[in-house]
Amino acid sequence: MSGEKLQEELEAELRELRFQLEEANDTIEAIRTGMVDAFVVHGQEGHQLYTLKSADHTYRVLIEKMGEGAITLNKDGVILYSNSRFSAMVGLPLEKIIGKTFNELILGSSLEDMNWIMQQKGLNDYKKEINLVKSDLSTMPVLISITNLSLEEGISLSIVLTDLSAQKEAQQVLSAKNTELEAARNEALKLNNELEDTVEERTRDLSVSKEHFMLLANNIPQITWTNLPDGQFNFFNQRWFDYTGLSFDQTFDEGWANVIHPDDLIETQLRFSQSLTTGEVFEMENRYKYNDGSYRWHLNRSIPLKDESGQLLFWVGTATDIDDQRKSIEKKDEFIGIASHELKTPLTSLKAYLQLISSYKKEVVPEQVKTFVVKAESSIGKLQTLVNDLLDVSKIQAGKLHFSSVDIDVNELVRSCTENAGYMYPDYDITFIATEPYIINGNVERLEQVMMNMINNAVKYSPVNKDITLAVSKEADKVKIAVKDHGIGLSSSQVDKIFERFYRVDDRNFSASGLGMGLYISMEIIKSHNGTMGVESEINNGSTFYVLLPTSS
Ligand code: ADP
Repeated sequence: MSGEKLQEELEAELRELRFQLEEANDTIEAIRTGMVDAFVVHGQEGHQLYTLKSADHTYRVLIEKMGEGAITLNKDGVILYSNSRFSAMVGLPLEKIIGKTFNELILGSSLEDMNWIMQQKGLNDYKKEINLVKSDLSTMPVLISITNLSLEEGISLSIVLTDLSAQKEAQQVLSAKNTELEAARNEALKLNNELEDTVEERTRDLSVSKEHFMLLANNIPQITWTNLPDGQFNFFNQRWFDYTGLSFDQTFDEGWANVIHPDDLIETQLRFSQSLTTGEVFEMENRYKYNDGSYRWHLNRSIPLKDESGQLLFWVGTATDIDDQRKSIEKKDEFIGIASHELKTPLTSLKAYLQLISSYKKEVVPEQVKTFVVKAESSIGKLQTLVNDLLDVSKIQAGKLHFSSVDIDVNELVRSCTENAGYMYPDYDITFIATEPYIINGNVERLEQVMMNMINNAVKYSPVNKDITLAVSKEADKVKIAVKDHGIGLSSSQVDKIFERFYRVDDRNFSASGLGMGLYISMEIIKSHNGTMGVESEINNGSTFYVLLPTSS
């Protein structure tokens, strides 16, 4: 073949190809615009004629313009028609799409689905997700909607393809967000469960403690109540209602005020409101009206209940019936009073008889007997002191410790007591250096009694170091009289109690006789002189007992 011939042939072939291409483009354009209903495809098996049923112009324009891809396949899966959206989806020109089998444009994993679809006959808007393979080999997820069409050539398929890329992306973002959300939700759920557990536990604890409290409160023999921090009553136990005979409403209308004895009411209210202000424990004895109208003595205690931060939550009060105890103490006091009174007369006579005997001459009363008389007199002296103390205690109890008062020179009072003590306790070094004169108003015998009690104790509780010093000084508007010893001393807990009636320190090795009345009587005497009494002491380091008395102007 000559070169010229070859060129001519090639040019002819090119022309032919150009012609075919133009023809194909015209055909496609004609189909797309609805100008033709049929066309011929030149395949390996020769030319084939394809027709489009219902080739309605409007319909085609619509298909052409829509956002979804639209294709039609024959029964062999060859693409008979494609709109330009589908060509954009796969990234191929229309002329390369028409005549291609659809399976060439989908991902291998979607082939099985597609083959199944091809075998079906009556599909109508059947939907499936598959993946297209684009010309750049990237993939695109699409939702295909398939309907079987009865074309003249047999069954074929109309497929509308919706690009799912955006949805898939959104779905992915959504699913990522969903996972995050799910994790957050699980965390929240966990927290919530924990919280619920805690709340449940706390509620259980609370209800347990509330139940316990109610059970306890209603079953103890005491009257119990609670007050809010401002003093308002908000609970009374069953014992209150049983005792007072008041109903719930009556209690909250009238409350305490009607139950407390009128003589005790003002002091009770005063002391309780003091506690409310200071936050200190409220404690006092008063009488509560029983449901039959009689009164019984009660010991009240109200304790402030605080939370961990020290914030006052409420007051818990109890009233214990001490009427029987008080009555039996009163009986004992009465008995002591009567017995000591009864003892006093025979003692005085005994003392007088002894004095008579001792006044007899030696010839009449043998020396031996005289010695006995002296001993008997000393014992009677002790007995008399004891009886006098007992009498004083019962007088104090009955509020009958009366005495007359005069102006007294303190130096003189202390000096005479020191002198007395010097005679009584020759082994002891009892000293007093008088200071400037102070005058107080009081009863000489009673104040001497107090002084002697302090000196007697200083001697009694100082077995080794026998130095005892008395001192008078001025403290603000009061005169202080102090008795200092170097004896066994007292602990602070003992100090708190020694002024109580009949209290004696019994937990130490040291033993001394006594009934625990001296300091109690002394304190009461000093109180009735508008003074105070106290002690500074340390175990094994001596004590200083003192009284503070107002000077008379
Ligand atoms: P008593 O008759 O027992 O001495 P008081 O009322 O005079 O009674 O004293 C009460 C208690 O105080 C005594 O039992 C004693 O333990 C203690 N007491 C009093 N004075 C002193 C002191 N100077 N030194 C140590 N203890 C003392």
